[in-house]
Amino acid sequence: MSEIKPFSGVDGRVKLAEAVPLEAPFTLNLFPSNLCNFRCNYCAQSRGGAVLAQEYQMNGEMMTLDTLDRVIEQSKGFTRPYKLVSFMGHGEPLCNPDLPEMVQRVKQAGIAERVDIITNASLLTARTAQALVSAGLDVLRVSLQGISTESYRRTCGNAIPFEKMLAQLQYFYQIRGQCKLFVKTMDVTLSGEENQEFYRIFANCTDRMYIDKVKPVYSGVEYTEQERDLSEDRYGKRHEDRRVCAQPFYMLSVWPDGDVAPCDAIYRANPLGNVHTGDLVDMWRSSSLLEFWKMQLNCERDTHPACSKCCAPNDVQHESDSLDEDRAAIMQKLEEMPQ
Ligand code: SF4
Ligand code: SF4
Repeated sequence: MSEIKPFSGVDGRVKLAEAVPLEAPFTLNLFPSNLCNFRCNYCAQSRGGAVLAQEYQMNGEMMTLDTLDRVIEQSKGFTRPYKLVSFMGHGEPLCNPDLPEMVQRVKQAGIAERVDIITNASLLTARTAQALVSAGLDVLRVSLQGISTESYRRTCGNAIPFEKMLAQLQYFYQIRGQCKLFVKTMDVTLSGEENQEFYRIFANCTDRMYIDKVKPVYSGVEYTEQERDLSEDRYGKRHEDRRVCAQPFYMLSVWPDGDVAPCDAIYRANPLGNVHTGDLVDMWRSSSLLEFWKMQLNCERDTHPACSKCCAPNDVQHESDSLDEDRAAIMQKLEEMPQ
């Protein structure tokens, strides 16, 4: 029987404030594709290619296996494996036909305790499902756009037959072996009565399921115009305004072209370099990242050109990752770090 639980994070998460500064990031995000076959009305992809290129420097790139191999080799320079390598990003990972091969290479290299994919699952054919399970994938995290064909048409402009989508997921569940299947949808894709129906449908064909509360992550997208209660975070929790963004203290993200940023936001806050010309270990230990951490601890993100546009700390940050109460102690540790 499936659990009702947000599909990000794991049980037994460490208290981040006690662990930082980290010798190596806990999470490495790999963005296999800047392209998506959907145009969800709460996503930057809905604004079209010209806006993506101009505002976010996204030009439909796909990560190559050469770029991935560089990431893998450089990752071996850290003192321990990542807790998580996540194939995700601001496009659809399964648009990249090399994705199963990428999962296999990461698993074989032993650079991660866990490997997952975040996907809309529309391209999850039986063959791809088999390839991902054979590659050793640990978790497939699926974001649905509702539980009807009409909801798909309304939300992402693509009238995907929901019965077909459901059949693909049921097949994956049957053959998943050790892999887990987590499924969620956004509250804006469901009418009130459909919430229970969502949980009923997925109770016996997923390992975890949840309905997220979507927030305005991107400017100019359609649903930001709707009047909604935004006082809760994505997981339906209320909390004080978060002062420090925790992501850069435990995360690196590699864009399809090899660019590296210390968070997964579309704004590419504080770029650290490119894996074709630099090294991930050096980037993690760079003065550029150190100064970015200090900026966060000084609560200056509201004046940072990228962070000031971003709601991630108040939207997706886990309680156990909050650094707000421990700012002074962490700053002291950073000041004492060897340069
Ligand atoms: S499937 Fe994901 S990346 Fe694609 S448009 Fe929807 S939210 Fe954006
Ligand atoms: S506030 Fe947003 S842009 Fe800034 S570091 Fe956090 S996730 Fe990245």
